[in-house]
Amino acid sequence: MNKKKKIIIIISSVLVFCIGLSLSIGLTWHMLDLKDTEELYRSNVAKVGYENTIETAIPQTALYGLVKNHYSSPLAEGKSVKKAIIIGYDGCRADVLTERESSNSAIGEVLNMGGSINLSYCGGVNYPEKNVQDTSTAPGWCSILTGQWATVHGITGNDISKSMETKTLLTSLVEDKVIDSSTFITKWAGHFSRKNATYLLEKEYCENNNLNVAFNKCKNNAKSLETTLGEIGKSDCADFIFVIYEQTDAEGHSYGFTINNPDYRKAFKEADKYGYDTINAIKSRPTYQSEDWLIIITSDHGGINIEHGKESIQERMTFIVTNADM
Ligand SMILES: [Zn+2]
Repeated sequence: MNKKKKIIIIISSVLVFCIGLSLSIGLTWHMLDLKDTEELYRSNVAKVGYENTIETAIPQTALYGLVKNHYSSPLAEGKSVKKAIIIGYDGCRADVLTERESSNSAIGEVLNMGGSINLSYCGGVNYPEKNVQDTSTAPGWCSILTGQWATVHGITGNDISKSMETKTLLTSLVEDKVIDSSTFITKWAGHFSRKNATYLLEKEYCENNNLNVAFNKCKNNAKSLETTLGEIGKSDCADFIFVIYEQTDAEGHSYGFTINNPDYRKAFKEADKYGYDTINAIKSRPTYQSEDWLIIITSDHGGINIEHGKESIQERMTFIVTNADM
């Protein structure tokens, strides 16, 4: 190789390296939102219309008791059956609810039904104390479904299979014959569709004991909606439905969990429209008037930049919108 060729190769390599470096710095910079401050977060949360404050946020474990109470309380006059649904918006921050649409919003619909809207928290203890379990998907939903923190259910993070010492509402309500059937609908394989998935042992337990608990792994959010609408469309639909719409989590991991990310706001609106379609299907049931439905909309954790799991206020706060008395 002559000297001229060598110089060209060296210059080209340096150029390629520099372009790669600036691209990756640019990408990282894009994923960090320096404007996503605690101050801005608090001011947006204050605009949502929550009935409580960050300081008085409700532990997400309280939802377990809310569902149990629904089924154990007497039927109101004219009602013949109790049903319940938890609609999850995975990784949906509490501040982005300022963006809800004036129509076709599940949250707006539940509030129109006389429901309440409250802040809740994940992570085991309320902000600003440091979280004692990851502000992540598996611990969050597991705390909601079992009414316990990870000190009891053992799910400190993702990819740990829960033992059967603590059962979820899906299983215990059916096993104790409080209800006839339940169903879990999600697109994330980490719940019960891969090695070390959270509810792998629980799914096996239900199958081995012929319990009427369905575990539906869907290909994408649209399929999760379709499966949910299909379930609600059955005259004898499951008595307890747990569905998670996961748009906000996916967008957050790709381009940022922040109200400053227009696509994150869009993802929330889409999830809230899916929730609206879900509630609309419930209200369209021919037997709806004689059914007593508990409706809950909530999230498992928030997020910051392109992650969650830690202790920031943006990751810690979640929300509970429900037609039940809180
Ligand atoms: Zn999640």
